[in-house]
Amino acid sequence: MSIHWRILLGMALGVLAGVALQFWTEASVLGGFQVVGEAGQALEISAVEAGGPGDKAGLKPGMRILDASADEGDLAPLQDGGEAFESWLRGHSNKQRIRLVLEGNQELSVILELDPECARARWLAPFAAGADIFMRLLRMLIVPLILTSITTGVAGIAGGREFGRLGAKTLGYYISTSFMAALVGLMIVNLLQPGVGAELGLPVPEDFRPGEGRSFLDILQRMIPSNVFGALSDNGNMLQIILFSLLFGFFIGRSKEPHRSRMRGLFESAFEIMMGLAGFVLKTIPYGVFVLVAKVVGETGFDVFRPLLFYMLVVASALLIHSVVVLPLYLRIVGGISPLAWFRAMVPALMTAFSTSSSAVTLPVTMETVEKRGKVSNKITSFTLPLGATINMDGTALYECVGVIFLSQYYASVGGFDLSVADQLFVVMTALLASIGAAGIPSAGLVMMLAILQGLGLPIEGAALLLAIDRPLDMMRTAVNIWSDSCGAAIIGKSEGDSVLQTLAEPAGEPPGESAVDS
Ligand code: ASP
Repeated sequence: MSIHWRILLGMALGVLAGVALQFWTEASVLGGFQVVGEAGQALEISAVEAGGPGDKAGLKPGMRILDASADEGDLAPLQDGGEAFESWLRGHSNKQRIRLVLEGNQELSVILELDPECARARWLAPFAAGADIFMRLLRMLIVPLILTSITTGVAGIAGGREFGRLGAKTLGYYISTSFMAALVGLMIVNLLQPGVGAELGLPVPEDFRPGEGRSFLDILQRMIPSNVFGALSDNGNMLQIILFSLLFGFFIGRSKEPHRSRMRGLFESAFEIMMGLAGFVLKTIPYGVFVLVAKVVGETGFDVFRPLLFYMLVVASALLIHSVVVLPLYLRIVGGISPLAWFRAMVPALMTAFSTSSSAVTLPVTMETVEKRGKVSNKITSFTLPLGATINMDGTALYECVGVIFLSQYYASVGGFDLSVADQLFVVMTALLASIGAAGIPSAGLVMMLAILQGLGLPIEGAALLLAIDRPLDMMRTAVNIWSDSCGAAIIGKSEGDSVLQTLAEPAGEPPGESAVDS
């Protein structure tokens, strides 16, 4: 059975297992704090369990509760004493939010958690452990994949004879289209705001306060590692790792023999091996999706999938806009090439990308398609396409941006703070670099997202949720990645004198179908 079907099966079985848990196991919830008080008086918090939901929300012993509610109209019986309040609290479901107004008009919300002693929590524990193992496996890949993939890619071009005009053109195209893609993602996700008010049931992290102390200069400053090994030891330092890998790769390419070929060989081999290891980890995705979905549905029910569906639509429409508006404009204006004709010629590569979710696996098909059907010379394709498959990922840049802002919107709306412009800029820049650092294999974009979230101080549970629905989005963004690579090859080929889309052997002939080149 192909991987898509296995992932879908994993998801369906996960939903079934989660629903079964919801139906057949007893659950009780707790807020992680106790109250005392006589009927008719304001209740006082007497104890807060360390690390529990109350503690996470910022409750402290001694605070007085003036008002408490769950939904509109679902007010706590504050006048009936401590016990009545606690039984009201327990009458709610897991992940439900309880709003408390405390003395001094301070407002806090507590997200209820399952009592670890209840039957459902005990049933869920193995699923949670499985999900954690799976996420750890993915995180294990982050640092070595970024380091080897970027270093190999950059070392390969920095040393070549072609680096110079062709290199500058190629990098210019790659960086500007990826940046545009991240901007399109940013615009659409801000316009449609899929994360605002989404009921994802994820608790708000304490130390996530976007907008505080992060200016553009700050970001630049913090991109430079003061200790490379320190940076490599923390998944959250992705920008530093990327910057170092770019520099290291560049100077490998620039160094003299025999050092250059030794180091290139070393990193290429390490990259190959990491791709093998990543391929192995990614084979476990169907099982990972199974345990994750079972855990999420078992904990919170089916409702979390509604905002996720909207999120998928947002990603899909942003990808569509980038592919049918932005890239065709590049083709037409910069390259003078008919976008429709180029698209028709590229169908085999795009279909392969869509069905494999891997730029690296698609590369031979992309090269063949761009050369044979697109009539771009081998000199151009052999330089631009392998590089493009590693570092030019418009779909991934867009996806990182939409995904991270979606989750931040959720946390911001739950936690009651705003995402500043500097934060959004930070996300765009990180998304761009993450797309450069992502390997061309299925779900690599999601692995990179874990790193961005850690860099922002956001919990990675959010990305775990997104993993459940990653495959279809991965298929789409990989097709966009390849579409952008191929457009780049066409534009650069044309600028270097290739007669793009025209039959090379018979210069007088028209390409099959239509006159494709506007001159
Ligand atoms: N699967 C994508 C690719 O190979 C990378 C990603 O996950 O975004 O292009």
